[in-house]
Order: sequence, then structure tokens, then C-alpha cells
Amino acid sequence: MPVIESEEHKALRTAVSALGHKYGRAYFTRTVEEGRPATELWAEAAKLGYLGVNLPEEHGGGGGGISELSIVLEELGAAGCPLLLMVVSPAICGTVIARFGTEDQKRTWLPALADGTRTMAFGITEPDAGSNSHRITTTARRDPATGDWLLTGRKVFVSGVDIADATLIVGRTEDARTGRLKPCLFIVPRDTPGFERRKIDMELNAAEKQFELVLDDVRLPADALVGDEDAGLLQLFAGLNPERIMTAAFAIGMGRFALARAVEYARDRTVWKAPIGSHQAIAHPLAQAHIDLELARLMMQKAAHLYDAGDDIGAGEAANMAKYAAAEACVKAVDQAVHTLGGNGLTREFGLASLITAARVSRIAPVSREMILNYVSHQTLGLPKSY
Ligand SMILES: Cc1cc2nc3c(=O)[nH]c(=O)nc-3n(C[C@H](O)[C@H](O)[C@H](O)COP(=O)(O)OP(=O)(O)OC[C@H]3O[C@@H](n4cnc5c(N)ncnc54)[C@H](O)[C@@H]3O)c2cc1C
Repeated sequence: MPVIESEEHKALRTAVSALGHKYGRAYFTRTVEEGRPATELWAEAAKLGYLGVNLPEEHGGGGGGISELSIVLEELGAAGCPLLLMVVSPAICGTVIARFGTEDQKRTWLPALADGTRTMAFGITEPDAGSNSHRITTTARRDPATGDWLLTGRKVFVSGVDIADATLIVGRTEDARTGRLKPCLFIVPRDTPGFERRKIDMELNAAEKQFELVLDDVRLPADALVGDEDAGLLQLFAGLNPERIMTAAFAIGMGRFALARAVEYARDRTVWKAPIGSHQAIAHPLAQAHIDLELARLMMQKAAHLYDAGDDIGAGEAANMAKYAAAEACVKAVDQAVHTLGGNGLTREFGLASLITAARVSRIAPVSREMILNYVSHQTLGLPKSY
């Protein structure tokens, strides 16, 4: 893996950053206030080939990988315009369909995900399973008369279900209802009868809403199943590793955005003889935040590189560590940015305080800080499990 970014990647970074700054934070804040997604930015990013940069060329994508897609999300975030649905629509759903979908599913979904005309949400979390995905109980059974699937279960905290054309739901088949998870993935169109959603009242300032879902014998055609019902965890992690890498990109972008605002402020704000940025109590934590974000990005690049090279196992460990490092770096950068602005850190005018909650999302989702520490304790260090 080249430690120095390639010229192509640098050029992509510069171009996406220009697009992000063309829209800018003011645009993004306005869409959140209007309670709608950043449709114009989404459409333009798609038109320029950024949203489908990881998808196969023969299906309308750019033929790149998660390395490129993570650059896009990081740069949009650093410009103040983080597109959360990029974590799910092209990264999880696009990747899983590209790797495991039928030809028909690829033809139906990939060009539309790439050109931004359609989006797909992703639902795995359940109220009674939470971090323990092995406990999910959403169950699919076959209707012997028609060959259709009937899907029943509950999901929680699923983002963007109202704006996505469909949700990729993780369930298990009836004959694999107990024991270790043998997941099956189903494409559930938004308005399918029996697929009910209820918005969760989140204390988050974001365009994408979270939903509780109730699936009550949702009837789906046989071809709603993505890939193979026996493919199991391999197929699921083909989507979850990109999700972790993209969450790292989301966190690094947000951390960079907050840090840049704080540095700009600290250069000018003078309450004694010199700007506050000359006091080491202000400068050093900002420098540390920068170092932490840079280190997190290196691990994210490693994870993306391993994933794109087809090393799913190696990518798994690196993606977890990248997500951990990026979330911690983001939380610290945002906290220090708010502190740097003093009272202004809490004003709506400067718009940093709402990032305190937003930054915490990357520590909780899609896999919490503690579950990553558990993974590294057990898988990497070989320590025994307590649960
Ligand atoms: C804004 C937002 C968007 C989301 N979007 C989606 C989405 O689009 N699709 C989707 O499927 N899900 C989504 N989620 C859900 C997210 O993935 C879960 O919240 C996350 O996996 C944690 O699950 P939980 O909330 O049930 O917490 P729990 O599993 O109940 O955990 C609660 C706390 O206990 C800790 N804990 C649990 N088990 C252990 C253990 N063994 N050792 C140590 N500590 C432990 C956790 O680290 C955490 O701090 C979203 C969540 C948020 C907040």
C-alpha cells in the first residue's frame, strides 16, 4: 500500500473539496433546518461520478473502490456537507449487490445508485439485539404456494428509510432461527404493504432521520433475496466493512471541519496581547487533534486498501481500528473546537455545538467503541471473552 496518496487520489480530493465548498456549510445547515436532505448536492455529486465511484463500470459506476468513495465522503464532510447516506447507499448496499446480487438486481439497482436517482437504506439493528447481531430475530419464511418470502421482525435506528427507495434488511431464514447468525439480505421497497416505519425523536441536527421499523409478514418476491441464503456472514461483512471505513471517513471529515473552524477563530481572536491561538493551552490540543485525525486517516486508508484488494479478513480488523480511531479523533476535535470558541462555541451562528452530538454518532454506530475494543481484545490479542 502506498503511504503517499496517488496523484489520482489527490486530484479526486481537490475536485470533491471544490464541490463541497461550492455548496458549503450554510447550504447544508439550511437543508437541515428545512428538514430535507441535501438533494441538490447529492444529485450533483452523483452526476460528477462521485457517489458511484466504487461501483463497477459496466453498471454505471466509476470502477474504483472504497478507497475512492471514502475520499469523497471525507472531503464533503471537511467542507461541512457530510452526506450520511453515502455510508449506506453506495457503500453497503451498492457493494453487496455488486458482489453478490443477481444480474437482474445489478441491472436494476447499480446504475441508479451510481447516478443518484435511487438510494437504499440498510437495516440490521434490532431493539432486543443491539450490539449483539447474532440475536437478531427478523425472520424470513417461504410461502410454498408462490415461492415468495414473508418477512417479519422489528428494526430500530435505521437511517433514511423515508427518503430511500428501498431498505436492505438483514434477517435470517426460518430454518436458521437460532444459534450463530446466518444472515440473509432482502431488498424491501419503501411502500411495500406491511413495512411500517415510525420516526424516532432524535436529539440530532441532521437531515437524515432514524426510524423504528415493523415488518409484519411483508410479502416479497423470490428475487428480493440478495445473493445466496447460505452465503452467511461473508456476504454481510462484504457490506459491514465498507460501512466501518465510511464511518471513519464521515468522522474524519467532521473532525477536520470543526478543527478548521477553531484554527481560523484562534488565529484572530485576541483578548490579551496576542491571539488566543498563541497560547499553548489552546494551540496544543488543536495540534493533537490534527495529529489524531491524520493517524486515523492512515488506518482508514489501510483498511480501504485491504478491502479493495479483496482481503476481507485483513480489512475487517483494519476497518474496526480505523472506525475506532476516527471516532475518537472526531469526538476530541469537535470538543476542542467548541472549547476554542469559548461562548461562541455554543452559538448557533458558529454552528459547532450541534456537532458534539453528531460526533458521538460515530462512536456509537455502526459498531460501538466497546465492541471494537472487544473485537481487538479477542481477535487480535487472543484474550478470553467475558460475554
Ligand atoms: C444516528 C444513528 C444512526 C444509525 N443508523 C443505523 C442504520 O442506518 N441502520 C442500522 O441498522 N442501525 C443504525 N444505527 C444503530 C447503531 O448501529 C446501534 O445504535 C449500535 O450498533 C449500538 O446498538 P444499541 O444502540 O442497541 O446499543 P447497545 O447494544 O444496547 O449498547 C449500549 C452500550 O453498551 C455497550 N455494550 C454492549 N455490549 C457490550 C459488551 N459486550 N461489552 C462492553 N460494552 C458493551 C455498548 O458499547 C454501548 O455503549 C444507528 C444509530 C444511530 C445513533
